[in-house]
Amino acid sequence: MNPFDYLRAEDVASAVATVAGRPGAAYLGGGTNLVDHMKLGVATPDLLVDVTRLPFNQVEVLPSGAVRIGATVRNSDLAADPVIRARYPALSRALLAGASGQLRNLATTGGNLLQRTRCVYFQNLTTPCNKREPGSGCSAIEGYSRYHAILGASNQCVAVHPSDMAVALVALDASVVVLGAAGERRIPVVDFHRLPDDQPERDTVLTHGDLITAVEVPELPEGTRSTYWKVRDRASYAFALVSVAAAVHLDDGIVRDVRLALGGVAHKPWRAGRAEQVLRGGPATEENFQRAADAELADARPLAGNRFKVPMARNTLVAVLRELALGQGR
Ligand SMILES: Cc1cc2nc3c(=O)[nH]c(=O)nc-3n(C[C@H](O)[C@H](O)[C@H](O)COP(=O)(O)OP(=O)(O)OC[C@H]3O[C@@H](n4cnc5c(N)ncnc54)[C@H](O)[C@@H]3O)c2cc1C
Repeated sequence: MNPFDYLRAEDVASAVATVAGRPGAAYLGGGTNLVDHMKLGVATPDLLVDVTRLPFNQVEVLPSGAVRIGATVRNSDLAADPVIRARYPALSRALLAGASGQLRNLATTGGNLLQRTRCVYFQNLTTPCNKREPGSGCSAIEGYSRYHAILGASNQCVAVHPSDMAVALVALDASVVVLGAAGERRIPVVDFHRLPDDQPERDTVLTHGDLITAVEVPELPEGTRSTYWKVRDRASYAFALVSVAAAVHLDDGIVRDVRLALGGVAHKPWRAGRAEQVLRGGPATEENFQRAADAELADARPLAGNRFKVPMARNTLVAVLRELALGQGR
């Protein structure tokens, strides 16, 4: 591991100024992803600014009805929070589907959003990877691709985004609150992560020094039901092959509001806008669920090792809609 300095941030402004002013500096949340990458040599920061003592560890209901989640709230605490469990079961379930109890006790909301891909080639310094070393090539396109993208990939990178929490946040129309050298801004989570295009080394729209201070989740229409399903190789402690986050509001059998996102299929949590369009305003029927899933996956481009993901994503999306809209569970 590279030698590095450690600084415990005492106040927000100096944390941002310190990281923004030093190209090799990085924020440290729970360290469950960054420290692994430092051990592997994938990340080589020369200064870690620990943000876990900054005053961002609260979950609060705002006067608007939205819920503000501080960036240092641990994944375990967020999943167990009574407001989150009652209002956003999809978010609580997504968190509990991720990692293990011990990891969730350390992992923070900000760090979870910024965790990097689990592509085996990204984590292996001996293999080419455009995300780790721009211009070196993508080993996954012709290689081991079971976990890789079927939507929105480029000829530079076919990696997928690994966070379960972020998929739920996209379906819930949440926003990330960011403090940078130029002040505070809000970024919808759906626009926060990027598709790879020809810059796969950039996972998000953040620039160096930007500090995540909170995530805000708007209030859902009264009567909305939400959930998160994750399909994986093991029942726990495994990343998603495919996942679906959904929030559905029905009125007399008609879909009044629907928000859908897919995980494990793209370089970012994938908002299933085409499926939503098919469903919105129509009757909640099995036939429409299937039409919606087909519309969303029409442009899927699987690799040799992950063709199974197309029917898996389709069937999971239909099953989630069936559970939420028709009350027919697993
Ligand atoms: C064995 C294993 C299995 C796992 N399985 C899953 C899984 O199934 N699903 C899943 O979703 N995740 C899984 N994870 C990943 C885990 O959820 C992440 O490691 C964790 O959420 C990262 O949070 P952290 O606070 O530890 O981040 P850190 O490791 O501290 O940081 C991650 C990144 O975020 C940056 N950062 C941290 N906080 C901030 C901030 N406030 N502002 C700006 N930048 C910040 C850091 O600089 C770093 O770049 C797994 C991890 C392991 C090790």
